[in-house]
Amino acid sequence: MDMTNVNPHEDTLTFKKWFQNVWRGFSTAIKGMGITFKYVYSVKPVTIEYPEVREELPKNSRSRLFNDVQNCISCHMCATACPVDCIYITAERREKDAPKLKTSDGTAIRLDLKQYTIDTALCCYCGLCTTVCPTQCLTHTTDYEYAAYTVDSMKYDYTSPEIVAWRERLVK
Ligand code: SF4
Ligand code: SF4
Repeated sequence: MDMTNVNPHEDTLTFKKWFQNVWRGFSTAIKGMGITFKYVYSVKPVTIEYPEVREELPKNSRSRLFNDVQNCISCHMCATACPVDCIYITAERREKDAPKLKTSDGTAIRLDLKQYTIDTALCCYCGLCTTVCPTQCLTHTTDYEYAAYTVDSMKYDYTSPEIVAWRERLVK
């Protein structure tokens, strides 16, 4: 080997650069691990183990709608206010000699509600329908677990017994 062209000063510079690179790699790894350990040991987790753990939504959340049909007067105000027309109501005038009915706030019920359906696949959860409801029978709930396999099954008729059973489960 010809040693006549080897510059000892250049060798020192190469070693210095190598050492700096190694040190930079090591120190940034330590810094990164420090941040990881900080999150593991001292920062409160913001995620939960769903569905084992469930978050309670705030009471004023605008989630799944519920119509307490016993207090609905079939006035159609909710359907008129709905910007996406996803509320379908069928009601018939009550017979003149039929017993008088009232809602819990004393409003006379003049129509027999036959069907009250909301297509929640179309609903944008704006809350306009609940705002205009004169008897406040239409409300948002805090239920967010009602995913379905078909779009059609997201239409809920609030006169059906399944809906009443769902509501009873929810308020338990
Ligand atoms: S929340 Fe809005 S979009 Fe949904 S049913 Fe009510 S008015 Fe219609
Ligand atoms: S606004 Fe209220 S009372 Fe009137 S039809 Fe809608 S849910 Fe029933």
